[in-house]
Amino acid sequence: MFRIRINNDEKSPMPLKFYNSLSRQIEPFVPLHQDAVRLYTCGPTVYNYAHIGNFRAYVFEDLLRRTLKYCGYRVIQAMNLTDVDDKTIRGARAAGQSLDEFTKLFKRAFFEDIKTLRIEPAEHYPAATEHLPEMIELIQRLLDRGVAYRADDGSVYFSIGRYPQYGRLTKIKPEDMRSTGRVRNDEYAKEAVADFALWKAYQEEDGAICWDSPWGRGRPGWHIECSAMSMKYLSPSFDIHTGGIDNMFPHHEDEIAQSEAATGQPFARYWLHCAHLVVDGQKMSKSLGNFFTLRDLLEQGLTGREIRYVLLGGHYRQSLNFSLQSARDARAALQRLDDFAARLRQLPNSTETDAPGIVQPLLERAETQFRQALEDDLNMAEALAALFSLIRDVNRQIDQQTLARPAADATLALLREFDRVLAVLDLDREPAVPAEIESLAEARQEARRQRDFAQADAIRDRLLAEGWLIEDTPAGPRLKPAN
Ligand code: AMP
Ligand code: ZN
Repeated sequence: MFRIRINNDEKSPMPLKFYNSLSRQIEPFVPLHQDAVRLYTCGPTVYNYAHIGNFRAYVFEDLLRRTLKYCGYRVIQAMNLTDVDDKTIRGARAAGQSLDEFTKLFKRAFFEDIKTLRIEPAEHYPAATEHLPEMIELIQRLLDRGVAYRADDGSVYFSIGRYPQYGRLTKIKPEDMRSTGRVRNDEYAKEAVADFALWKAYQEEDGAICWDSPWGRGRPGWHIECSAMSMKYLSPSFDIHTGGIDNMFPHHEDEIAQSEAATGQPFARYWLHCAHLVVDGQKMSKSLGNFFTLRDLLEQGLTGREIRYVLLGGHYRQSLNFSLQSARDARAALQRLDDFAARLRQLPNSTETDAPGIVQPLLERAETQFRQALEDDLNMAEALAALFSLIRDVNRQIDQQTLARPAADATLALLREFDRVLAVLDLDREPAVPAEIESLAEARQEARRQRDFAQADAIRDRLLAEGWLIEDTPAGPRLKPAN
């Protein structure tokens, strides 16, 4: 009787629109290949625990991935692990550990954290240190094509002057770069001049951390990692590249320049950037010291799903202010979702049917609004609004006793569908039964065995007064919260 449109028909994915930072416009999304969408997401630098600003970016990317899947696409995602750069080298040396030992801890922590935040794993997590041959080969190609040069100290630089197409993403003109302070001031740009390092010659501060190359000992620059690994796992041209807005310049601009200069083919076709997570109007960052790690917040009693809910809320292109109030709001919203699901689960089996035609249109409307909101450049505020109006409308039907079991099941099925994207509902979790309630239920069983039905009924009433319903099933009595 109840029909929910399930959107996993791989042959006819739904129309999606994204704001492409490259064109600065909302564009319809058309993938390059039928088989899968290829998605590259800049990953963590594993020198410390990631902060929840970083996780805003990773949760946004998870929302993107899950939305693509919800809309019927298969996704191949690669996320790099930056396990060699200035910060990791400094950290390893300060800890007196090898680079591998030092970064291993933070790689493990990262995977634990993304699990806590219910972030779906990517297909590939390439680590920079395992892709030196690919990076060296790419740098060699840039040298062969004349857009890179070798400096006296053995470093190799990309020459922006020899690559007039530079600036496709941020519309920065190569000739303007030398005169602006932007390059110098950017936290990721280690070079004071516009040319950026592809290979950094060995310095004493690097200790034992170096690799051999045709240009002598050294290590790769940061930008080349992402070009080499994205092209290896996703091919030279792929669909979507994402990151936080701070990665746009110079990191993503440099990735485009070195990839396209090497292959002569367009690199990523759609660039999606999330705005920052801010605290008191400032970007949350390690350098400002205004950050919380996920672990800090868990210690303060928040849960992974509450933090996920905060990070999901709002539009990804708008900055999101993190506060304890937003965490409290998330808790209240999730409680509302849990209560609603529990109410639906607990609706008794009955032979009555709903007032015909009431619930089905509510479900269809909610499904359409939710889907259209996601299709519209991942409009999460609208998607959540669709969910919460469904809750309000269906609750009204429950209050009026016009919702029967089949409609409750159809509503639960729709929630399950929504949760493929949201991943914040705990639809199958029965609440824990307190020990004293368990023993009261056992006492009632005992009274029934003794055929003391008056006592059994009295205990049942007491359980009800404590907020628990006892249901006798063929498998024995079952406790459920009496909402
Ligand atoms: P990093 O480890 O600094 O390279 O950052 C990893 C990812 O987190 C990148 O996509 C950054 O753009 C992103 N990121 C860093 N700080 C924030 C922030 N406060 N809000 C949102 N994204 C951020
Ligand atoms: Zn990157």
